Amino acid sequence: MSQIIQILPDHVANQIAAGEVVQRPASVVKELLENAVDAGAKFIQLIVKDAGKTLIQVVDDGKGMSEFDARISFERHATSKIRITEDIFQIKTMGFRGEALASIAAVAQVEMKTKQADQDLGTLVQIEASEIKRVEPCQTTVGTSISVKNLFYNIPARRNFLKADPVEMRHILEEFHQISMAHPELSWSFFQQNERIFQLNSGNLRQRILGLLGQKWNISLIPIEEEAEGVKIYGFISKPDVAKKIRGDQYFFVNLRFIKSPFLHHAVMSAYEDILPAKTYPFYCIHLELNPAKIDVNVHPTKQEIKFEDEKMIYQILKVTCRHSLAHHSVLPTIDFELEQGMQGDFKDHYTLGKPDEVFTSKINSATQGFSTNKNLNIEDQKIEKDRQKSNLNAWETLYQDFSQTDKEELQQVNLWSSSINSVPSVSEMNLNKSIQVGKEYVVCNFQQGLLIVHIRNARERIRFEQYKKNAHRNQSLAQTLLFPVRLQLSLTQVLILNEILEELNVMGFGIRDFGNHDFVVDCIPADMEDTDLQSQMEEILEIYTQSKSVQTEKLTNAALALSVVQTKKMSNQLSDEEIEIFIQQLFSTELPELSPSGKKTYVKLANSDMKVWFD
Ligand code: ADP
Ligand code: MG
Repeated sequence: MSQIIQILPDHVANQIAAGEVVQRPASVVKELLENAVDAGAKFIQLIVKDAGKTLIQVVDDGKGMSEFDARISFERHATSKIRITEDIFQIKTMGFRGEALASIAAVAQVEMKTKQADQDLGTLVQIEASEIKRVEPCQTTVGTSISVKNLFYNIPARRNFLKADPVEMRHILEEFHQISMAHPELSWSFFQQNERIFQLNSGNLRQRILGLLGQKWNISLIPIEEEAEGVKIYGFISKPDVAKKIRGDQYFFVNLRFIKSPFLHHAVMSAYEDILPAKTYPFYCIHLELNPAKIDVNVHPTKQEIKFEDEKMIYQILKVTCRHSLAHHSVLPTIDFELEQGMQGDFKDHYTLGKPDEVFTSKINSATQGFSTNKNLNIEDQKIEKDRQKSNLNAWETLYQDFSQTDKEELQQVNLWSSSINSVPSVSEMNLNKSIQVGKEYVVCNFQQGLLIVHIRNARERIRFEQYKKNAHRNQSLAQTLLFPVRLQLSLTQVLILNEILEELNVMGFGIRDFGNHDFVVDCIPADMEDTDLQSQMEEILEIYTQSKSVQTEKLTNAALALSVVQTKKMSNQLSDEEIEIFIQQLFSTELPELSPSGKKTYVKLANSDMKVWFD
């Protein structure tokens, strides 16, 4: 009898399991920080080198482990956190699968020192690729210190697959933000290459958010709080005016566990509906507390997704709570402010209606009773509101998509459109001295077969974009020196992005110097850029750059795109006849005159033959 089936050796099984748990340095950071929290630590230190590729170390002052536990903690399914299956439904700690340490030890060189309060000596465990190298008593303080060195050293394919340091570092920062925001009562510090980049002392949630995002956020935070139907909601949302074009500052926590939920995100976004500029996202940090039996956290290995027993009710409570707070802080139109008055007494009753679509509108109805002024308007508004709510809720399942994905698809469509364009008019075909500006946004010009309506700003972006790139390639960028150098104040994420494209920006005419410690000084800027408000111009450049990265990768191209968008924003809208002529000539001398660098149309053609049909 032949035998072809074999049981996998443990180290192989561990490596396979590790693929699920340990995808990148940030996954290790997440697991170790969670373990430290679970161990009851009050002060947790994170140390990384080379974006976690050479070292990730977490030091905690938690309860530590006995020698026996220290040794078996690296075994797969070793966990002190559940014992029987029913426990799974009552999980309060972060980790519970007992897979993390085993997985990490399968793909790195790990050293752990740990000691419990009643021990004189602690235990040192060294393990590499699942093989225990050393277990011995050691001197150490109470708590646990784990260092993970040379991640994926034994799996070159995985190691090569890791992204550049700034990218991996961003993922690590995300994890750090998430867990430290979940636990403002704990103190955290974070060192990168021996430099301390965060020192967060224990405090309240507002202090923690400010510690992470910067003090200037203080005036932009709106508190939210509600308790109904067994759900407690608290946290902060931002005023709409600080909403950003990129996602990333949105945090949900369920029972102190960070989760991603398109569904809940939609609830918050719909509370902001009609007060947020298109395609922008507010900051929020929202905690939900509910009975663990009513959620299923075991649906995803990295535990970021969960299922709620009654999703629609949570959607509704969350939305109304956010809307309420926005109204209370007078950032909503009047009707919503009135709404707030009516909410006091009967607020909670509405959740039990069981028909989420009606909850919010019924609240508006009750809220607006007794307000005789603007009554007609209010009824009209109510209808609009009602319709909107309805379409909103009906559509939530289909509506929500990953936004960057949508952007990509849009761009693909535009590209298709552009390749199907048959003929770009040439400058020689045009009667340039008969071009005129129409309003602030358009120039209309004559060409042999008809009219062109040119969108000034999109066209300027195209022109500038190509100029920036060309000058950079030839090293001929024009710069203006600032009379007074400007110091930039950037968040850590912004610093990382700026470092990524510092060289590109400088070759396009900037003179930006890195002073270390997140300090940058700007001595000169591209010749055609406005020298006012550099701080916000730079923030916008970094934001647009980050956005465009998801579509294409060349750094210089993306930096030139960002710069052209920001630069043209500040340009004057009134063009003289002569300027119009130069402008059109420049546009049609570019490589792709029909599209702005971010893929928007720069002009439309109206052919004589098309016009003819109007009058036949
Ligand atoms: P899980 O967290 O899912 O239980 P892990 O592999 O992350 O699994 O950890 C295994 C066990 O090791 C934990 O259940 C815990 O008992 C112990 N452990 C891990 N890290 C620490 C720590 N920092 N302090 C104390 N005990 C720890
Ligand atoms: Mg764990």
